[in-house]
Amino acid sequence: MSGAKRILIVGGGISGMTLAAAAQLRGIDVVVVEKARPQDQLGTGINLQNNALQALREIGVLDECLAAGFGWNTITTCDASGKQLDKRELPWKLEPGMPGALGIMRTTLAQILAKRSTELGAKILYQTQVSQLEQLDDGVRVTLSDGTVETVDVVAASDGVYSPTRRLVFGDEHAPFYAGQGAWRYTIPRPRTLDGFTIFRAANGLAVGALPLAPDLAYYFILESTETTQWFEPDQLPHRMAELLSHFDAPEIREALDGVHNGGHISFRPFDILLMPQPWHRGRVVLVGDAAHSLTPQLTSGGGMAIEDGVVLADELARTDDVEAALTAYGRRREGRVGPIYENSLRICEIEKGNHREGDDGVRIFVDSFKLLADRY
Ligand SMILES: Cc1cc2nc3c(=O)[nH]c(=O)nc-3n(C[C@H](O)[C@H](O)[C@H](O)COP(=O)(O)OP(=O)(O)OC[C@H]3O[C@@H](n4cnc5c(N)ncnc54)[C@H](O)[C@@H]3O)c2cc1C
Repeated sequence: MSGAKRILIVGGGISGMTLAAAAQLRGIDVVVVEKARPQDQLGTGINLQNNALQALREIGVLDECLAAGFGWNTITTCDASGKQLDKRELPWKLEPGMPGALGIMRTTLAQILAKRSTELGAKILYQTQVSQLEQLDDGVRVTLSDGTVETVDVVAASDGVYSPTRRLVFGDEHAPFYAGQGAWRYTIPRPRTLDGFTIFRAANGLAVGALPLAPDLAYYFILESTETTQWFEPDQLPHRMAELLSHFDAPEIREALDGVHNGGHISFRPFDILLMPQPWHRGRVVLVGDAAHSLTPQLTSGGGMAIEDGVVLADELARTDDVEAALTAYGRRREGRVGPIYENSLRICEIEKGNHREGDDGVRIFVDSFKLLADRY
């Protein structure tokens, strides 16, 4: 029996790059294959809750992330005119110098993670995919799109919610499904007054979430509920975004509206979600991040779960020479943590689809979920 000495990670997103750094730190050699180019990251933001920040500290990138992003501690709810209805602290137990949560540009986070993984010795192959994958008794033989063949102890499928690796190894039966909502995201200069997560609610049930990402940047998102999936051409986005924002009179939103037609980065993405049943591995191929669990984003925790996955998988692989036992232990550790967060995110999504008939429940579920995550992963 010999443990994982060399692994191949398919997908260099948040989960893949965290796993790459965490594995290299434990003496496991890593090759990452990423189909995109380094500059192809989405030009929008992400919020990382405190549990994700703890995991980023383990791979040695916390200080860089804190310096590049915007730490925040309060959730404020306002009406459409900007009048404050509620304000509460995030429930994390805070250490000095550590915010409850951090907004950061996705491009910046990706650069920090890729730099750290490379410094630690990971080999990252951009614009590369897996052409063939053959399970062996004690490893996996992988043929890459550039023709090279890698024989590794474990393949980690970190290739996102539509994971081609999951389809190849687990079959089509576990396809993601549409959750009945999508998100409009819009990156803008940070309004001076925005120093925490703020939700503006209009009487018709529409809500805008506003998140600082850096001293000079913020992003606004709107969750739109529809029976069927919507897709938009890029030139349709500004018009529709302006229409949605026009339901709000808050000064911060009026200010943002000015930039909609002037080059602010706007994107739309429907929520396709899934939670894979255990085990999350077949043979020596294991699912990580969104490939294993893709959440609706109400708890801003999908990325945090993906980051934790990376650290926990590296930990289990380094703990034993028995790869099967390591992969089973990883799945079990993650199941109890991801399941409630997946369910709670979906509960808030359902409340929103019913136009907030359950009043303030969404914020309570939000706060209660972070109390769950305050325990060590
Ligand atoms: C609207 C929205 C808002 C969100 N907001 C937040 C938030 O604020 N906070 C938070 O924590 N989470 C948030 N999330 C969730 C978060 O974005 C995901 O959970 C996270 O990106 C998952 O990371 P991942 O690395 O597993 O997958 P991904 O980020 O999807 O990365 C997968 C990578 O695999 C690559 N890839 C795909 N196919 C192949 C292939 N065949 N070969 C090689 N490479 C491949 C892709 O190019 C990509 O780089 C949000 C999600 C949505 C949709």
